[in-house]
Amino acid sequence: MREHFLPYNLPDLGPEEEDAVIQALRSHWISRGPLTQKFEEELSQHLHGETVLALASCTAGMHLALLANDIGPGDEVITTPYTFAASVNVIIHVGATPVLVDIEKDTGNIDLSMVEQAITDKTKALLPVHYAGHAVDMRQLNRLRDAYHLVVVEDAAHAMASTYQGQPIGTFGNFTAFSFYATKNLTTGEGGALVVPDPELADKIRILSLHGMSRHAWNRYSAQGSWVYQIEAAGFKYNMTDLQAALGLVQLHKLTRMQKRRQDIARQFAEGLADLPVILPTQRDYAEHAWHLYPLRLITEALSLSRDQFIEELKVRNIGASVHFIPIHLHPYYQMRYGWTPGQFPNAEQFFEAEVSLPLYPSMTDDDVHDVIEAVRDIVLSHSR
Ligand SMILES: *Cc1c(COP(=O)(O)O)cnc(C)c1O
Repeated sequence: MREHFLPYNLPDLGPEEEDAVIQALRSHWISRGPLTQKFEEELSQHLHGETVLALASCTAGMHLALLANDIGPGDEVITTPYTFAASVNVIIHVGATPVLVDIEKDTGNIDLSMVEQAITDKTKALLPVHYAGHAVDMRQLNRLRDAYHLVVVEDAAHAMASTYQGQPIGTFGNFTAFSFYATKNLTTGEGGALVVPDPELADKIRILSLHGMSRHAWNRYSAQGSWVYQIEAAGFKYNMTDLQAALGLVQLHKLTRMQKRRQDIARQFAEGLADLPVILPTQRDYAEHAWHLYPLRLITEALSLSRDQFIEELKVRNIGASVHFIPIHLHPYYQMRYGWTPGQFPNAEQFFEAEVSLPLYPSMTDDDVHDVIEAVRDIVLSHSR
């Protein structure tokens, strides 16, 4: 058995990131500044020239996208129960009502074939999540968008480097929010970015992201800047800083390398676990998985232990794991506010009850990967009915 605990997740940070942050510190420009602008430009290049704003978080990006599209009280936004709280909270924060549609049993993504039934006169937006890094069917999504004149805000927190028919998520003409949180495929510690398909709204969102101050106010302390600013809206403090952007630039430069390693680990898992009575994550024809997560699902009827016990057994073997996600409708706050009850979104609940996210990150060694495979094999085989 392995000697040291293998954490569920670790960011891939090394000397390049250290140097970049030290240089940023020595520049004395530690808030939003030239590095943030450079990061935005490079993200834009990475996403085929889309307009990209670097922000404090993915949550900030989704919030601003809804606000900038005037989505608010009386409006409904359709999203998935199988996501992190942020996707629903931003809908609540603009005063709109979240409407949940159950997920596909294989990908864990919102079931787009059931979205149409949930659309009403009040529906203004769709907020799908590319769960684990597997793209939703973009053609089907955009068909719904166009047919019902909806705004689409993609929660792409897992989907940096995810593609649909070879084309990167973030380039399909929708508001698309990426997360650079510590656990995500590209990290700036905390941070995010929003792709804005409409350049006019980009200015509005940029202003909203920095207190509502007029354009270019961020450089008011530089030689080219001026102390004058005007407030054009009651904005937020949602900007990225140059310390974060310094990290982000290095991470973006090594993204391809990191993604290769994620794919490699996913392949090793698939090979090493293929013969077990478990459900491995799917990859539909149209998707290139970003492998943010490796959501293994147990066939609990075939096992004599529960999912929770399975995770405990992994821990005994010095392997960390997690679960993504506790469905939205099972949390007390949302139940109280919207009357959602257990049983309402059965696919999400079944996925949740069977799901274990295995450790998968670029800095894992082949020995680490081997240890995870052996631990899973050992637990499954010794608890088969
Ligand atoms: C991480 C995550 C978020 C939040 O990202 P932040 O950058 O922390 O705001 C939103 N949605 C999903 C699905 C996530 O996993």
